[in-house]
Amino acid sequence: MIQGSLVTLRGPCGKASCVCARIPARHHQRRYLSWTEAGRTRMLYVPQAQLKGFQRGVRAWVEFKCLAQELARQNARMLKSQELHIP
Ligand SMILES: [Zn+2]
Repeated sequence: MIQGSLVTLRGPCGKASCVCARIPARHHQRRYLSWTEAGRTRMLYVPQAQLKGFQRGVRAWVEFKCLAQELARQNARMLKSQELHIP
């Protein structure tokens, strides 16, 4: 699994001869993995060839996070109900 979210940014590639240098509408789309680390947003470039793997990893992270949150809520409810049964 991979923690973060996939974002798409548009921009020129930097090659002076490329059509994107003259026509902003032809700017390239690039995918990045975005996550927060110690309060700072971090970005990692994701090559097109690896996009599917990153998408699978991010989906697995979201599922894991949901399961962990549900488990944590159940633990809190269980602890609370045990508390009520203490004479
Ligand atoms: Zn370009």
